[in-house]
Amino acid sequence: MLPRWRLHVPVFAPFVAAVVALIVLSTVLIYGFVRSAEIADELDRSDKQHLVENYLIQSNTAIAREQKAQITWDDAFVEAAGIPNLDWADQNIGGYFWESFGYENTFLINPDGKVLRAWAKGMPANPAKFEPLASRVEAMLERMSENRQILGVPKKLKQLKDTRWPFDEAGRPLSRWSGQQVWFEGKPALLTVMPVLPDVTYDLVKQTPNHVVTVNLIDAAFLAQMEKALLLKNVRFVRSIEPHDKLHSIPIIPLARGHAGHLSWTAGQPGKRIFATNLPMLAIVLLYSITVLMAGAFAFRRMRTVANDLATSVAQAKFVAMHDSMSNLPNRAHFQRKLTEQLAKVAESVDDNIVLVAFIDLDRFKDVNDTLGHKAGDDLIRIVAQRLKKGLPEGDVLARLGGDEFVVLRVVPRSKTAVRRLGLQITRILSKPAYILDQELIISASCGISMGPDHGMDPGDLLRHADIALYQAKQRGRGRWCGFTLDMDEHVQKRRDIELELRKAIGENRFDVAYQPIISARGQKIVSVEALLRWNMPGKGLISPGLFVPIAEQTGQMVRLGLWILRRVFEDSRAWPGLAVSVNLSPVQIVAKSFLANLRTIVTETGIDPRRITFEITEGVLLDRTDEVLAVLAELRAMGFKIALDDFGTGYSSLAYLRSFRFDKIKIDQSFVQNIENDLDALRILKAVVSLGESLRMIVVAEGVETLLQRELVVAAGCQEIQGYFYSRPVSSAHISRLLVRSGKAQFPVLAQAA
Ligand code: C2E
Ligand code: CA
Ligand code: CA
Repeated sequence: MLPRWRLHVPVFAPFVAAVVALIVLSTVLIYGFVRSAEIADELDRSDKQHLVENYLIQSNTAIAREQKAQITWDDAFVEAAGIPNLDWADQNIGGYFWESFGYENTFLINPDGKVLRAWAKGMPANPAKFEPLASRVEAMLERMSENRQILGVPKKLKQLKDTRWPFDEAGRPLSRWSGQQVWFEGKPALLTVMPVLPDVTYDLVKQTPNHVVTVNLIDAAFLAQMEKALLLKNVRFVRSIEPHDKLHSIPIIPLARGHAGHLSWTAGQPGKRIFATNLPMLAIVLLYSITVLMAGAFAFRRMRTVANDLATSVAQAKFVAMHDSMSNLPNRAHFQRKLTEQLAKVAESVDDNIVLVAFIDLDRFKDVNDTLGHKAGDDLIRIVAQRLKKGLPEGDVLARLGGDEFVVLRVVPRSKTAVRRLGLQITRILSKPAYILDQELIISASCGISMGPDHGMDPGDLLRHADIALYQAKQRGRGRWCGFTLDMDEHVQKRRDIELELRKAIGENRFDVAYQPIISARGQKIVSVEALLRWNMPGKGLISPGLFVPIAEQTGQMVRLGLWILRRVFEDSRAWPGLAVSVNLSPVQIVAKSFLANLRTIVTETGIDPRRITFEITEGVLLDRTDEVLAVLAELRAMGFKIALDDFGTGYSSLAYLRSFRFDKIKIDQSFVQNIENDLDALRILKAVVSLGESLRMIVVAEGVETLLQRELVVAAGCQEIQGYFYSRPVSSAHISRLLVRSGKAQFPVLAQAA
């Protein structure tokens, strides 16, 4: 299972900005729209208010003109100024105004605002009727004294007894007047104050004259007229204005103790009309913007999804590219990248840090695969991966290189124990048994550790060096760790050279076989020869098979080489009829599937008698795949070949092996023989082995006998056959022929030249 990725592509900012911009724009647009509608309404209201006020002033002015016409003549002044002639006034003022203009209430007042005569509907009335008007009229008179509102064009203001009065060019006194809308007896009315003046005898005016006050009710007809003139709707009087009435109005000035009120009309609300007419357009613009934004947002979402998908698949591809699918650990590529990074860091850092690379290899992993199947092998890999992951500290980088190979990268401050600590940690983590398919599996791992910068600063070098150290660890036995040392590298380089040359040599059969005589202890005669491979490496001279045979084994070339040797030895053997010949068999050859078939072919083709041939095998063969190997050995035996156990006494020497297969010969290792001169234990063991061999009816051969003393000792110990430089070095086949001919069954020692 791959981890899930959730990537956030950082492209929100422009999206958010666009949304915010649109919201702000829409808000501003709507607000501006509403606001301009409001302003339009407001302007309309104040416009209309001015118009209405103006209309009322005009109406007042019209009334004033009517009044002026009636009360501006010498007679009127003579009769009504000062102490009035009431009869005259009743007829010419109160009566006349009612009859001619329909003024319901008319008053004659003196300059101080005191009522001199009152009329209602043309008839004299109670002067008390004036009372509610008194203070207002007084205020109006006060204002009039400022000479603001004058009918006619004033030329100058002439000082009378108590006031400055306006006069025209002709020296005629002009009417200064005042008009207002008021509530009178519960009804709105136009109140007009107009002086009584002469029209011919101007200098009659010596002081402020008397005034006529008319109260002209504003009736429905008046309002209808006004509606028409000012294009207003629903003009009427209201006592109060509620905010939600949506009425426009002007206040009607209240009188003392009278009630207030307003002249109102239905608000025109042109703003609303503008709003209403433009609303569809606004809506379209907004809708369009929203559509564009939605489309943009959708496209953006799509884009983001696609980008996310892309990023996810890129990340997945990266993970897949960087991880091993079986263990879910980083793979070689990933590890190498990490290693490169860490090496660069350490190189730049001032701290004395070291980069440790541990190369881990499970011991005998192949066996698990072969015996329990690949599934079990895979399980084991996963278990090992898990264990290492859990067991190693956080900062370590663990990767699987493939097969049963793991690597660990660790960066730590330089210390003498760092390598040791890592090696012990790893071998310990992997030393406990694992449970697979309900079976307890004893596992162990070997580990090689290299260290940067001491062993190189190149990732490839460090890995290679760790691998070399691993090889050394394996050489020393299993479940071990080994730190790399610089001399290991030379060794490995040499191996590599050999490997390359060896490949060429095998292709061209550039080998030779030498034979070393094996002498009977009793008769001191050649009883057999051992075939030993010889290779002259170009430029390097003779290379020991002890060195190049393992390389051929490890690089998969031994099977081919082995067949060549067998053919060559069987052919050479024809020259020595009756002589027994030993051939070394590599474990690799024995377990090769086609080995027996190929061997039969060679036997047939060379016509060799298998009973003359002894195959020498080492104990190592029996360590791995014992059953298989024993089956092959049994088959070889059945074909007539003899089998010798070579190099006995080294490595895993175990007497148990001697029982597992009935060998024809045991060859006691030369290191053993060379020790018997000064090691009594060695001699004792030699004796024991010889007697064991005797009891199992095996011939015991002593190898590597170089000196007379050694010969004496091994003979004394009971060895039946002797091989070693003491008698002869390995020599050419021709030399063996000569030896055999010369001696006829020659007695040894015959010192032979090395082949
Ligand atoms: P080995 O099978 O134990 O062969 C005996 C080795 O001991 C030979 O080394 C031989 O030259 C050497 N030797 C014999 N007598 C003396 C002595 O008195 N003193 C000393 N110091 N050495 C003595 P060689 O030929 O270098 O072979 C080394 C190993 O290479 C052999 O050990 C054998 O394991 C392997 N080998 C050689 N030829 C073949 C071959 O054809 N096939 C296989 N599979 N392995 C071979
Ligand atoms: Ca041998
Ligand atoms: Ca040997």
